[in-house]
Amino acid sequence: MSKKADVIIIGGGITGCAILQSLAKYNLKCILLEKEPDIAAGTTKANSAILHAGFDAKPGSLKAQMNVKGNELYHKIKDELDLDIKWTGSLVAATSDEEMATLQDLLERGKVNGVEGLEIWDGDKVREQHPNLSKDIKGALWAPSAGIIWPFGAAVAFAENAVINGAEVIRDCGVTSFNVADGKIVSVETAKGCFKAKYYINAAGLRADEISALAGDNSFTIKPRKGEYVLFDKSAADKMTNGVIFPCPSKNSKGILVCATVDGNVFVGPDAQDQDDKEDTKVTLQGMDAIINSARKLLPEIPVGAAITEFAGLRAVSSTGDFILGKSEKVENLIQAAGIQSPGLTSAPAIAEYITDIVVKELEAAPKQDYKKGRPARHIFHLLDNADKADLIAQNSLYGRVICRCETITEGEIVDAIRRPCGATTVDGVKRRTRAGMGRCQGGFCGPKVIGILARELGVPVSSIRKDRLDGVMYYDKDWKNNDGGRA
Ligand SMILES: Cc1cc2nc3c(=O)[nH]c(=O)nc-3n(C[C@H](O)[C@H](O)[C@H](O)COP(=O)(O)OP(=O)(O)OC[C@H]3O[C@@H](n4cnc5c(N)ncnc54)[C@H](O)[C@@H]3O)c2cc1C
Repeated sequence: MSKKADVIIIGGGITGCAILQSLAKYNLKCILLEKEPDIAAGTTKANSAILHAGFDAKPGSLKAQMNVKGNELYHKIKDELDLDIKWTGSLVAATSDEEMATLQDLLERGKVNGVEGLEIWDGDKVREQHPNLSKDIKGALWAPSAGIIWPFGAAVAFAENAVINGAEVIRDCGVTSFNVADGKIVSVETAKGCFKAKYYINAAGLRADEISALAGDNSFTIKPRKGEYVLFDKSAADKMTNGVIFPCPSKNSKGILVCATVDGNVFVGPDAQDQDDKEDTKVTLQGMDAIINSARKLLPEIPVGAAITEFAGLRAVSSTGDFILGKSEKVENLIQAAGIQSPGLTSAPAIAEYITDIVVKELEAAPKQDYKKGRPARHIFHLLDNADKADLIAQNSLYGRVICRCETITEGEIVDAIRRPCGATTVDGVKRRTRAGMGRCQGGFCGPKVIGILARELGVPVSSIRKDRLDGVMYYDKDWKNNDGGRA
């Protein structure tokens, strides 16, 4: 494959996808290259999923500016892009006089950063809203503009809007080298051939330093910092929280929080472990114990038996201590969107606008007259009332076949997830788009059926369906020969 574009984006996490969507509003040919079989397969899929209000980043830093603006933008685009967001607000809880003083500092910092509506609550008000929280909590900082989001879904929403506006997303397409002449990138070599563009945007997450160095810019490094989590079943929510509860922050992290997800699960985590390996997302028993013990400071009675899985994400910690945004000083047509650690998820729409302004100015691009807002409608079966469920089944009988019993996900939703722009091609791609396999049994029952549906829809043999990345194998039952999505 060999293709030409105005702009090539390297990396399909939330940063790359938001930039692609923002650029798709202009008359520009844009291609996003992602090394994994699906977008949002890196840090974007494993984080705390909080849309931070923006009170804790250092005033004046890019992190502070992008966080506050990004939060504001998510409020604006939520309905247009049909994003799964709940505006829960957030609390930072203090259990000592010293920590109460920290809350005051955070409030002042938040005001400087432009965060609106911050208040300090006393312990009684905190427990009125969240009755399971510890009696030792003396007070908390309330930030009403914070929320929770489904990060993978947000990246997919950005990509879907970009694709319906003519952008291209090419997966399984890792960048391996650049052809550079006179300090300018001429073309990029990938697992799927050579691509040429006028500008190259580096949004490669943990690998952004390597991508930059390949092009000739060694000005920063990225180190991974792991954060482990324990996820609880929805049935535990009543005993835990439906909000976002932080402890007072430490130097390296925002601390072990107790937090709801948009789908009604609850998690505790993350810890902060510096490491060298950019692929190591292993979880450990020690990590799980430490997280749960630390979370007991906020929530004394943790229903440990309701834990359904553990996972870990890797923060991309840059040597500069801040986001790295803008034109490279060493390579003429390289634009960096690197070092995007927390609050990168919240900041993504603001980072996208920041980078778009640069590209539009450089290429004198005009807005697209026929830009299409939004994305194709989704039908989330279990959220419909009975009359709407009946209507939907009457229109398409696949919505009458429940494939994932834990989460009540129908075949209609799975087929739609595969056929959508930038649709799912792997078992995990289906799982992350629909929740099939995310329930209590973690895909034990529906996994083989999902493989069958994928094979049928993509027109490939069952044996070529992947769970996730190339080295990930789905161990399905070899005797399960039914390649028709389990219809028989
Ligand atoms: C534990 C933890 C908790 C967090 N909590 C929050 C939070 O609550 N709120 C918040 O706002 N932020 C949070 N963050 C930060 C947020 O998750 C990240 O800032 C954000 O996901 C970064 O997105 P990204 O697109 O820059 O990187 P990624 O999601 O890592 O995407 C980079 C992409 O580049 C691809 N890539 C790499 N190399 C190549 C190559 N050679 N060719 C092609 N593609 C390549 C990767 O496969 C990947 O898909 C948290 C992070 C962690 C780890």
